[in-house]
Amino acid sequence: MHEADLIVSLFTRRYGKVKGIAKAASKSRRRFGGALEPMTHVLANYAIKPRQELVRLDSLEIVSSPLFEPVDYERAAALAFYSEVLEECLPDSDPHDAVFRLLLSVLEQTTTGRTWMPVTYFALWMLRLMGWMPDILHCTIGGESFAGRPAYWHAHADGLVCSEHKRLASSTLSPESQSLAVRIFRQPVSAFALEDWPRNRATDLRRFATQGLERHLERKLSSVHALMKLGG
Ligand SMILES: [Zn+2]
Repeated sequence: MHEADLIVSLFTRRYGKVKGIAKAASKSRRRFGGALEPMTHVLANYAIKPRQELVRLDSLEIVSSPLFEPVDYERAAALAFYSEVLEECLPDSDPHDAVFRLLLSVLEQTTTGRTWMPVTYFALWMLRLMGWMPDILHCTIGGESFAGRPAYWHAHADGLVCSEHKRLASSTLSPESQSLAVRIFRQPVSAFALEDWPRNRATDLRRFATQGLERHLERKLSSVHALMKLGG
């Protein structure tokens, strides 16, 4: 390893997460160009060396990049969120095609100027794809339907509960956000592209999903903190 080398984490469709070394990347920007920017979709050529954990990146060809459009602070926070969640949720060398397709679809939405909608969609779907999504329509304790009433969750407990079974200091999930979650699990992300989605829409659902991820990962995600600081 030299000072100018970079260690890169690639999320590949066929082999899952692969860690590689980009030789002299910080010295010569021409070699890899913008291909090493976070959340860039690339075609990667790399060499696997025997008895070595890191592959050697030979060339990267950009398929699409978030930098094709101007990136503001909100979108940078969204990109950091995707990348941190992938890094924390997925083990190395374990392909996950559904996550790969989810990521491509939310990246497309993020690159075309949306933030809160794809972030919410991604957080909720990651919770589900990791097997951590509780029943959104029924109380975990009593099994009764929320039927248009608010549901409650607690930062240190699994599942959603009704008003009768809620603990102290619980957060509320509104009936609107419950129906939105049902739609998110039925429709592709592009179905939401024409909807107005300011940062204060479905904040409760986003918190529910990001807190669920953090609780199962047993750590706080710094990108979630950044998104919350932006008011989302
Ligand atoms: Zn209940």
